[in-house]
Amino acid sequence: MKQKESLAVNISICICLILAGIFLFNRCNNSTQINPDELVSVVLPEKKFGYEKDKYHFETYNLSSNQTLGSLLLYQGIPWDSILKLDKVSKDKFSIRRFRAKKPFTLVKEDSCAAPCCLVYEPNKLTYIKYHLKDKIEVDVIKKRYEVCEEQASGEIESSLWMAMKKSGLGFEIIDKMEDALASSVDFYHAQKGDQFKLIFERKYIDGVPVEFGEILAAAYKNDYGEQYSVYFENDNYSGFYDLKGQPTKKTFLRAPLKYSRISSRFNPRRFHPIKKRRIPHLGTDYAAPIGTPIYAVADGVVEVAGYAKNNGKYVKIRHDDVYKTQYLHMHRFSKGIKKGVRVKQGQQIGEVGQTGLATGPHVCYRFWKHGRQVNHLRENFPPKDPLPESELPEFFKQRDLLLTRLSLVPYPDEKRESNILEMDIQT
Ligand SMILES: [Zn+2]
Repeated sequence: MKQKESLAVNISICICLILAGIFLFNRCNNSTQINPDELVSVVLPEKKFGYEKDKYHFETYNLSSNQTLGSLLLYQGIPWDSILKLDKVSKDKFSIRRFRAKKPFTLVKEDSCAAPCCLVYEPNKLTYIKYHLKDKIEVDVIKKRYEVCEEQASGEIESSLWMAMKKSGLGFEIIDKMEDALASSVDFYHAQKGDQFKLIFERKYIDGVPVEFGEILAAAYKNDYGEQYSVYFENDNYSGFYDLKGQPTKKTFLRAPLKYSRISSRFNPRRFHPIKKRRIPHLGTDYAAPIGTPIYAVADGVVEVAGYAKNNGKYVKIRHDDVYKTQYLHMHRFSKGIKKGVRVKQGQQIGEVGQTGLATGPHVCYRFWKHGRQVNHLRENFPPKDPLPESELPEFFKQRDLLLTRLSLVPYPDEKRESNILEMDIQT
């Protein structure tokens, strides 16, 4: 019996392997070989959101402050019960209640007088959502096809790193990533005039237009203390930034659970409450941001709570190790799959900023627990992360050397000022 079973298992493994082989083969052969005689020239119609441009009518709208999406759709000829259904159906995919004011959306019509057959909303440059309004009320979340290009940049600081990046057109996002990549070796709070950096990074393009930065692949930073490197390494078991010896260069904890937010209230155990006229400690750090802004896990860990409490609203608590836990309050919603017992990675989105529970405006109250007590995370010195194990080093060195060779071809501004490579020159 045992033998029979194992034979069956072996056979099914073989079948799986064969299927996997075919699958991979297909994936690697997107451009199937075509006999030139069979080629027929076909002009494909130009499309927008999947609709042929010359057959459909597109109208762009912005909601004004005294207008609701429901009233607009009603005015456009969509029956009220369809609108109610849309509200219900969209909840699981991308709720129509998450539309941001001032962010335009498009109504697609079969002709200019008809009621819209589809509503399209673009929450970001890489995604659009189709709300089908004719026949069956349905929602499709569509990821746009993009191309990833590798690019390089170098720069010199004359006033601040932020200024240098801003002027270059590289944007805050990439600064954040460079700071992350070099966090343990460079003190960015004390960047000096004359410090220089260079980067190799990925950028996503749709139809030749840059839409988003991808990962930084390699970064170097040169100042009075010498030159620091950080290279991105990824295989089945590990991914992240490492120095030349394979030590992680990222911090154990991200500085904040959000990007580009501002601190609206600091950790203060002696806070005097302006309304209640008494001391009510604030044991967290509040980051204000619009509803729907992504919230990230600040370190690897396991979700201990993803639930609701009267004051906290919707909140997540993550256990990182025996010492540290973090907590994120007033969420609008949890990300898909975030529930008790689930493993999360540093930088993984766990939810969105909201205003649930006791909150006067949209923000995250971020709480940092150390040995069961809440502390100010901005004052903590964290232990370094574990280095790559010896068994991974040969592969790491190989990837590292490839990236370093490429980085060496990117000159620092002082090495070659007259180059056609993107340069950032700052006037003070
Ligand atoms: Zn708070």
